[in-house]
Amino acid sequence: MTRIIEVPDQITVGALAEKLELPVASLVTELMKNGMMITVNEKIDIDTANIIISELGLEIELKSEAPEETVVAKRVMSDAADAETRPPVVAVMGHVDHGKTSLLDKIRETDTAAKEAGGITQHISAYQISHGDRLITFLDTPGHEAFSALREHGALLTDVAIIVIAADDGIKPQTLEAIRFARKAGTKMIVCVNKIDKEGADINKIKQQLAEAEVMPEEWGGDTVIVPVSAKTGEGIKELLDMILLVSDIEELKSSHSVPGRGLIIESHMETGRGAVAVALVQEGTLRQGDFIVIGSTYAKVRMLETTAGKAIKEALPSTPVQISGSKSLPEFGDEFYVVASEKLAREAANLGGQKHSAAQTGMTSSELLRIISKRTSIIEFNIIVKADVQGSLTSVIDSLKPLDTEEVATRVVGSGVGTITENDIITAQTAGAVIYGFNVDSGAAIKQLASRHNVTVKNFKVIYELLDDVKNELTKRLPEEIVDTDTGRLVIRGVFRTTNSEVICGGEVTKGKLTIPSLAHHMRDGKELETVEILTLKSGPQEVKEIPMGEMCGMSYKPTEKPDILEGDHFEFFTREVKDRSL
Ligand code: GDP
Repeated sequence: MTRIIEVPDQITVGALAEKLELPVASLVTELMKNGMMITVNEKIDIDTANIIISELGLEIELKSEAPEETVVAKRVMSDAADAETRPPVVAVMGHVDHGKTSLLDKIRETDTAAKEAGGITQHISAYQISHGDRLITFLDTPGHEAFSALREHGALLTDVAIIVIAADDGIKPQTLEAIRFARKAGTKMIVCVNKIDKEGADINKIKQQLAEAEVMPEEWGGDTVIVPVSAKTGEGIKELLDMILLVSDIEELKSSHSVPGRGLIIESHMETGRGAVAVALVQEGTLRQGDFIVIGSTYAKVRMLETTAGKAIKEALPSTPVQISGSKSLPEFGDEFYVVASEKLAREAANLGGQKHSAAQTGMTSSELLRIISKRTSIIEFNIIVKADVQGSLTSVIDSLKPLDTEEVATRVVGSGVGTITENDIITAQTAGAVIYGFNVDSGAAIKQLASRHNVTVKNFKVIYELLDDVKNELTKRLPEEIVDTDTGRLVIRGVFRTTNSEVICGGEVTKGKLTIPSLAHHMRDGKELETVEILTLKSGPQEVKEIPMGEMCGMSYKPTEKPDILEGDHFEFFTREVKDRSL
């Protein structure tokens, strides 16, 4: 009879082993067999645990303990009555090398406020500029994967998407992808035709291509604004910024300042001396220094509140990107945050958030685990470890890998994390036979040496598409080859001249198609196949030939696969075999 055991929604592997009265090692081994590299102190969720229990053949079912009564902080939504205009949040998307980074750099250069602050040189994931007397918030996301990752978290972050197209190159698959994405997300789109200073820049050609992609330019009767710019000379940048404000005015972007602040985490990293530092975008209300906030499954007292340019501020209004410190642990990209009244409330709400997070800590959900269990006999897996500079890039990389999976091959992320590649990563990679992918991280000489000593491949990338292409190549290499057989002709045996274990010489008549060489043949008798053999030679009279047409008699020698067994009347169905490489 199945025994029911009550456990919390999330339980450490050690505690679970205890409840199941099993040695921890056997539970860890079973988890590993199912593709989960989890240590004793890490937590798994009930669904996952139940799957493992049934894999182990135990007659036990885990049930969730009744949740404790906890005060959940109520999130106050914006009251439209006191809503005020807020700056637009803009993301720049498009094909690699079309000038996204250059455009964002140029925009920052034109920002007078930034210049006064001494200029900003380091890479930041979000910032605000002033244009005239108004503000615009730019997100410098690693790509539109970041966008979709955020969307998956149920929040639509951007008001305006700028699709950058290089005037001398035109629409590329990634441009179309970005357009499709912005459309799906219902985000306003401005097409920015960049590099107009270059010879070969052809704006009309791009309008044509846009129209073909059903993005009709305004001047052709459509509703897409197209702004020609040069990120190099700065031409058109002012018009682009004007246009962003115009588009957002039409959208009437508003948010209340009076409610407690809430928003999204768009980046996080650990910093010596400051601990967990997160870049957060305030979406509604006001976030103040000293506020208590819940961030996903963790919480913080906002110790430090700064603009992303590093200027200390006391409060941040809607659409402002800020840096905050004081979080108990590293928040995740896409986590929602919201202000609550006290530390106690923040802690309790964070605990609940953590439980809801389910298997997020292990990087694997129970449905993924099920997929692995059900497919593990047939699917070919490519194990990888991903390390990235910031949480945002890490989430983007991992989320962008999933669509590359097919029924036959799939990547399996056996480890991931923010920061440089460590000795521990190398050891895990060796154990799991995994390749380590570094995104915007360095691996020092010592780590490189260690990797080569352990035969571990470490690959570093700075461009997400290049990393994805590499993974795709690796998956393609692992795809089983496709074998294509093509029937060519039939030979009916009329005489057998010599049989040895390595060669059979016989003769017959071509009754169908033609015989060619090199070739393979199914050796048939009474409608049944006896063997598949390789044809060695074809002879017309005493002459060796490459081809015998239908209706002719010929001699043939082949290599038998087993002890030679051939009779007059047998026939050979000739076919050619091609082994084709496949692509994803
Ligand atoms: P991203 O990959 O889309 O971020 O593209 P980048 O901003 O890195 O730009 C790719 C290349 O195009 C760089 O060599 C830039 O210097 C160059 N580039 C970008 N914008 C312009 C432009 O307006 N005019 C010219 N001539 N070159 C540009």
